[in-house]
Amino acid sequence: MRSMKVVVLTGAGISAESGIKTFRDKDGLWENHRIDEVATPNAWKLNPKLVWEFYQERRRQMSEVNPNPAHVALAKLELGVENFTLITQNVDDLHERGGSNSILHMHGRLQTLRCEDSGEIEHRMDDADLSDEYALCNCCVKPSRMRPDIVWFGEIPMYMSEINDAVNSCDVFIVVGSSGQVYPAADLAYHAKSIGANTILVNYDPPVNVGDFNEVHLGKAGEILPHLVDKWLNDEEVKSGTIRIG
Ligand code: NAD
Repeated sequence: MRSMKVVVLTGAGISAESGIKTFRDKDGLWENHRIDEVATPNAWKLNPKLVWEFYQERRRQMSEVNPNPAHVALAKLELGVENFTLITQNVDDLHERGGSNSILHMHGRLQTLRCEDSGEIEHRMDDADLSDEYALCNCCVKPSRMRPDIVWFGEIPMYMSEINDAVNSCDVFIVVGSSGQVYPAADLAYHAKSIGANTILVNYDPPVNVGDFNEVHLGKAGEILPHLVDKWLNDEEVKSGTIRIG
């Protein structure tokens, strides 16, 4: 019998109950900034200080927040199914701290910085790395400035080959906390549905791509997801891999 392949895609909404703001608040701003001011290569070129300080604030914030029950529920799901892939658009480390093991951070990570010259990535979360001074790399003879290890608008997301392979062969595709407005992540539910996967959504509001889901659960992920995961994992047929979650 073929084991059931479960793929999960998370977005900023899963970290909202941990106290991290989502991308677009009602005013269309991210933490009081226009997206093109802080999340594009051009913004880094024109105003690196503003971009650096914006991400340093996000990096410092990570030590003040904790995983919520939705992060923990996904770690439990990972343990309970044979074939599991977690893709996240999030740049925070709450999935790791919630217990998930293998995570594809398609939009990069806050804990790491990237040398502007060599592209080398370093884990840089010491106190000295979190100040508003630029960080310098350890890889170049003459240390170069580092940039946030974040995929900005206009850049190519990371792990696309692994992500496409996982989505193109999944039986169940679950999206948690994503508005479906950032591409190519927003297309993944459509692809999963088109190959016959069971597509399931857990989100506070109906996202723009709500039509791509077979099953929609509206509300807070931290309240809904733990119950859904328990239900899925306790289902005898799901345990034996003969039917699809949902
Ligand atoms: P988004 O901000 O565009 O949309 C968030 C979605 O989550 C909304 O549809 C909202 O209804 C829903 N939501 C809010 N609270 C929720 C809750 N408690 N439970 C369930 N759903 C909830 O997010 P996106 O689609 O991930 O796109 C955002 C982009 O911004 C990504 O590229 C990401 O890298 C970046 N970002 C990341 C973080 C983070 O790492 N935590 C935070 C902000 C932005």
